[in-house]
Amino acid sequence: MLGIDLGATKVVSGLVARDGTVVHHSGRHLHANDGPGGVIRSLVRSARACLDESDGPPAAIGVSVAAQVDPRTGTVVHAPNLGWRDVPLARRVAEELDGTVHVLNDARAATLAEWRLGAGRGTGNLFCLVLGTGVGGSAVVDDRLLEGGSHALGEVGHTTIVVGGRKCHCPNWGCFEAYVGGWAIAERTQEAVRADPTGGRALVERAGSPEMITAHTLFASYRAGDALAGRLVRETERFLADGAVSIVNAFNPSRLILGGGLVAGMPEFVPVVESAIRARCQPPAAGAEVALARFGEDASLIGAAEFARRHGMPSAHR
Ligand SMILES: [Zn+2]
Repeated sequence: MLGIDLGATKVVSGLVARDGTVVHHSGRHLHANDGPGGVIRSLVRSARACLDESDGPPAAIGVSVAAQVDPRTGTVVHAPNLGWRDVPLARRVAEELDGTVHVLNDARAATLAEWRLGAGRGTGNLFCLVLGTGVGGSAVVDDRLLEGGSHALGEVGHTTIVVGGRKCHCPNWGCFEAYVGGWAIAERTQEAVRADPTGGRALVERAGSPEMITAHTLFASYRAGDALAGRLVRETERFLADGAVSIVNAFNPSRLILGGGLVAGMPEFVPVVESAIRARCQPPAAGAEVALARFGEDASLIGAAEFARRHGMPSAHR
């Protein structure tokens, strides 16, 4: 199966074996984000870099997109980062590549990969929380990957955890993402070093300047024993615990899977979240296991390939 992951600045493709192993990877193909025509040309180049390595055309192709997607029609309904509305991506890609094309949301694709092939195997009720630059998520409930009324179910990054709190990138204030998303951790750290230049000296030296501080700068300084970084990491853990308790109360997963680049850089978040769930969730939900995701940054392309493998019906031609 061929899996393709389309993001705001890049596209990656991979030939994926049945067990989720990526047997050939295209590498990153940057695109100019210059509208559907140009981006789809980059996508097709990335796909062909993989297909050239395969023995024949794949039976089906899966594409994950950081967007609101209708997986039944393969249409990208709205992709704010790409500036797209109502782009029939499955049909457009099928015109270029010899195969059936399926399209789904990237968080749902990552969740499908973990559920069928990774840390979610063996349960029909899980929530996959993806902590990266933004905070995304997706739920499997009673053996179904949920979509929602407008294909946006599971956007837990935009649940309010602080009333009247920090401005989010969405229309709301005080969102979970506005505290624990990578961009928000960077912002909070930059504010802290400006407020306390002496305490923040090590963080600034590591990054080069206050505005170059990222979440990963914070984590590296924390590991080096920096006091201000330690305080900010503890604070991040409290926000993360607040959000995770609400997610588990709302979705009642048997397993909460933590994935994304932030958790990969800070696996210590897993036991912190687990103990918060045991202590603070309502009793019927408090037994949820917490697991680290199996798949890293290829989770969405692996899930896209798995989605294509499971959906034999050619959605692009319905
Ligand atoms: Zn928000």
